Amino acid sequence: MIAGWPATRFNNYAYDWLLAGEPAANWTPQSVIVAIDEETFHEQGGVHAIRTILANAMLKIAAAAPKAVASDVTLPDRTLDDAGVDQRLAEALARVPNLVLPCDVITAGGKARWEDPLPEFQKPATALGHVFRGESGTDGVDRVLPLEEIVDGKRRWALALEAFAVAHGDPIPTDSPDDVQVGDVQAGGVIIPAPRRADGRQLLIRYLSTGIPVVPVAELDRHLDLLTGKTVFVGVTALSAARDRVWTPYGKQVSGVEIHAHAYETIARGKFLTPARPSTVFGISVLFAVAAGLIFGLRSGWQAYALAALLLALAHWTPVEFFHHDLVFPYFATVAVAWISTGGAASFRYFFVQRQLRKSESERTRYQQALHWAAHEMRTPLTAIQGSSEIMTRYALPEDKRHQLSEMINSESKRLARMIQTFLDVERLADGQMEMKRETFPAAELVETCLKRVAPIAERKKIGVFLDHEVRGALTGDRELMEYALYNLLTNAVKYSPPETEIHVISELRGGELRLSVRDQGIGMDAKELKNIFKKFYRTRRAEASGEVGTGIGLSIVEQIVSHHGGRIEVSSEPQKGSCFTMIVTAT
Ligand code: ADP
Repeated sequence: MIAGWPATRFNNYAYDWLLAGEPAANWTPQSVIVAIDEETFHEQGGVHAIRTILANAMLKIAAAAPKAVASDVTLPDRTLDDAGVDQRLAEALARVPNLVLPCDVITAGGKARWEDPLPEFQKPATALGHVFRGESGTDGVDRVLPLEEIVDGKRRWALALEAFAVAHGDPIPTDSPDDVQVGDVQAGGVIIPAPRRADGRQLLIRYLSTGIPVVPVAELDRHLDLLTGKTVFVGVTALSAARDRVWTPYGKQVSGVEIHAHAYETIARGKFLTPARPSTVFGISVLFAVAAGLIFGLRSGWQAYALAALLLALAHWTPVEFFHHDLVFPYFATVAVAWISTGGAASFRYFFVQRQLRKSESERTRYQQALHWAAHEMRTPLTAIQGSSEIMTRYALPEDKRHQLSEMINSESKRLARMIQTFLDVERLADGQMEMKRETFPAAELVETCLKRVAPIAERKKIGVFLDHEVRGALTGDRELMEYALYNLLTNAVKYSPPETEIHVISELRGGELRLSVRDQGIGMDAKELKNIFKKFYRTRRAEASGEVGTGIGLSIVEQIVSHHGGRIEVSSEPQKGSCFTMIVTAT
């Protein structure tokens, strides 16, 4: 809406286009322009003879019995060297019925005042009308005429309005803040909707596309009958002398007197164009924005796009429809609002759908990966259970061997159950579904359990696992998950170390943080590899070459668990020297 509001130029183009597109009015012009054109000047003595030309023309016009006569030729000063020129003009003017003379605004010494005709000319005039046209649009097109002008405390109505009032026999217009009235509407009078605003009372000129008859002064004798019963506008149209040339919305260049005549016809026709209220514009713009939002909020796919296209068409058509009802609607406001909000809603929808899709895609792959990992990890205990039970059923074994095997089945199936539990827990943890258990337990117990569990595999490789210090402090969180994490770091250390090396577990309680490190003398990693080890399924080349089985998923789970406990992991490593993984968690 903000973008749409000040687009005056665009609105003007639309206005001109709509005005030019109006069907020709079924209206007979009530006025005639008597033009002092190039031909007239040429024949009758040039520009400096203008008062003589005007006097002669007025005498002829008076003879044609017009309804009223409005002159656009200002007469503020005396002719020097006057050989009776002004006198003759005054006499001619006195013959003219219902005469309206022009006054203009001039600014002298920084002060504006009315420039009125000389008293001798003013005397026979019925009224004075201003010919001030205000600022024409930024593009030099005259679309409006200020109906009323107040200068120096004196108000004057526009020449066209005065001409209409005088012709109507009701020379004094009445006004209210919202409109100007001439005579009784029932008796051919008119109410002009022209509210008084900051830029005055503006009359939108409804130019007659069919034009207004023009009779050059030089040809007046032949066309006097055209003037009878009409309002006559007398003015200079010669390019060499006319002070003003302006553009109409039709793209035609006209002189000032024609503008007044068109304004007169606008008033006489009584069919006025009025600007739509800002609140109406605002309301309709809001409606378009809301509709665009609703369309993409409630519908998707081609349905939404079809409805959006319909909405845009409606936005373009709204000002046209308003114009048909004589309301001028700022074209750009609705169109810009409709386009911007439709575009915004559509792209929001698009990115929203994209995001949803990406999310479900990544969820699916994550789930597949997790399943893959679970199947892989579970195979080891399952093989052990299967093997042991087969041996037990196939062979008659001594009692102690049977006992050993059934112990193994028992412990491996427990490990399997634990793994399934961990798997489910990690899945739900990643989903954000799981409430983590929150219990407080001594860190020493955690370390002890894990060390016990890792001892047999370390022993197989003759790796010594040492606890360097006494573990102090208590942790709060999910004990099972934390065990899983530390156990993973320990098994990795064993897996990726050559036999007969050492693993050291170092614990340090400092500033409310417990740092638990697992340091090995194994294959290590370089800086580039270090960056990737927490990614799912990533395994270093060295790890692959070591022949150790692995899925590359353990560390990513460890990291998740630790971060869910509000902690972090630090790793330092050097190829062929060893690695050190440190879990840092809050502790008391
Ligand atoms: P896995 O051990 O199943 O391959 P992890 O996620 O536990 O998966 O580890 C990811 C990778 O990080 C390993 O494949 C290995 O390349 C590297 N890595 C982990 N721990 C160590 C370690 N202690 N020493 C050297 N490399 C390690």
